[in-house]
Amino acid sequence: GLSTRLQNVFGKLRGKGKVSEDDVNEAMREVRLALLEADVNFKVVKDFIAKVKDRAIGQEMAKSFTPGMVVVDIVNKELTELMGGTQSKLAKANKPPTVILMAGLQGAGKTTSSAKLAKMLQKSNHKPLLVAGDIYRPAAIKQLQVLGEQIGVPVFTLGDQTSPVEIARSGLQHAKDNGLDYVILDTAGRLHIDAALMEELRQVHEVAKPDEVLLVVDSMTGQEAVNVAKSFHEQLELTGVVLTKLDGDTRGGAALSVKAVTGCPIKFVATGEKIEPLEPFHPERMASRILGMGDMLSLIEKAQTSIDADKAAEMERKMRTAEFTFDDFLEQMDQVRKLGPLDQLMDMMPGMGKMKEMKNLKVDEKQINRVEAIVKSMTKDEKRKPEILNHSRRKRIATGSGTTVADVNRLIKQFDDMRKMMKQFSSMMGPKGPKGGMK
Ligand code: GDP
Ligand code: MG
Repeated sequence: GLSTRLQNVFGKLRGKGKVSEDDVNEAMREVRLALLEADVNFKVVKDFIAKVKDRAIGQEMAKSFTPGMVVVDIVNKELTELMGGTQSKLAKANKPPTVILMAGLQGAGKTTSSAKLAKMLQKSNHKPLLVAGDIYRPAAIKQLQVLGEQIGVPVFTLGDQTSPVEIARSGLQHAKDNGLDYVILDTAGRLHIDAALMEELRQVHEVAKPDEVLLVVDSMTGQEAVNVAKSFHEQLELTGVVLTKLDGDTRGGAALSVKAVTGCPIKFVATGEKIEPLEPFHPERMASRILGMGDMLSLIEKAQTSIDADKAAEMERKMRTAEFTFDDFLEQMDQVRKLGPLDQLMDMMPGMGKMKEMKNLKVDEKQINRVEAIVKSMTKDEKRKPEILNHSRRKRIATGSGTTVADVNRLIKQFDDMRKMMKQFSSMMGPKGPKGGMK
């Protein structure tokens, strides 16, 4: 699937200390193919690739801490943007009830999603009313009634001999009379978009004056779902899309193209035939899910916020000039500690695989406290010039810090390892000129 393909592309990139323009181009070629194969709209893919390349080859790589990770991060951010950026909330009427019109083709999942939406609202202490507006499909009313009973939500119906417009009007009144704060209008679908369907929906719309017009589309139909959304939106101003059947063997293309093609955001996604609360759609989470790297992205973010580039540069300078002291060492350990799961972080960093073998690089809270005690028992001279730490000094430090000579020896060894690691770090930071990291 799309996830696996993208993960392979980025797996290759991530391992690199430096990323050339060719690397980016090569990766983007593969991303492009993966997106097209996932049935993402052609034009959307083209624009997307152009944007990512632009950012990757531009400024952002220059400042980069690890360029390979930056490319992944850019792709993630652009994917998120493509799907609308932030989560779109369900509208709420100033004066209840809030009216939600559910539209869509037959079999898209309108009735099921209506019940799921009711369950979601009920969970947040609202009192929804389901209105059975599909008078054409046999047993459509019964279907909604069964679902309503299952979740304990009232279902309003006038049978199948009354017009949908009249049902909507009466349903709304029923909600007002009974203090119900959300009205979910289930409507009829057709196999194809036709004039009669649109006309009926327009009339229902006029009477119900919905706060939300949600188009329910079946994600399994891929680009067809997007085309359907486009025509509906042109004829009946939609406020959002519900993407159903994401549980199935979907290629994901619809989720990625809907917003870009129609300008209408996905507000909810639905999975499964069982009535579970409808899930709000989070572009960010979807992007991470597609890239299959939720954890990694949060780690990148952490690394970017907790490793201060200026400080790191200063450390690097100190090391080169042999000014790197035990105090700096302490501070450095503290920075690394802030990053959290060190093992994972190491895996992601180019050239860090080997460092991981150095067991004594594992940082835990207790160990840091011990290190702190040892360093504090050192004299100024000792901190600055570790080479003067002979056996008697080490013994004194151990006693002073409540540790053992073995602990002190280990720390000094660690200090040397840290210096080596710093050297690795500094080479990963790349040259700092404007073209840094790209060549
Ligand atoms: P409607 O014609 O638009 O009202 O569609 P329905 O709600 O009756 O759903 C049509 C079929 O799709 C039913 O068999 C549902 O159980 C199934 N369905 C609806 N939503 C989902 C979903 O999110 N996932 C899966 N797997 N099936 C769904
Ligand atoms: Mg239905």
